[in-house]
Amino acid sequence: MVDAALRERVASCICGGLQIVVRGEPRHLHGCTCKRCQRKSGSVMTVSAWYPESQVVSITGACSAWAPDGPASETVFCPTCGGGGYFRTGDYLPDCIGIRIGTFADPSFPKPPHIHWWANRPHWLPAPEGIELLDGN
Ligand SMILES: [Zn+2]
Ligand SMILES: [Zn+2]
Repeated sequence: MVDAALRERVASCICGGLQIVVRGEPRHLHGCTCKRCQRKSGSVMTVSAWYPESQVVSITGACSAWAPDGPASETVFCPTCGGGGYFRTGDYLPDCIGIRIGTFADPSFPKPPHIHWWANRPHWLPAPEGIELLDGN
């Protein structure tokens, strides 16, 4: 059995051009159904994991960045397929990068303890069991 602190996971875009290897468990993990997350991802819910820079083993491949508010809150993605990558959230966990957990495509990835902006979800999305549902941040 691999020590959880040494376990490595690979986040990849769909074309495989941009790959991020992280080590250990994320510092924070949550789901969000806010409008911004929906528009940014194209999905009705995002689930993101924040990893301290010290746990980022490598980032390889070409990157494009969208950073309308400066590099402290940039979104980085694959310029070929538009997917994958990571983001920074400014004052929120500033020493971490956030990664959408779908890019790990790992069914065993830990479950988020809570989901933000739940009232904003699509009306047909059922409440998941064992996850706290929050009205705001
Ligand atoms: Zn790609
Ligand atoms: Zn959100």
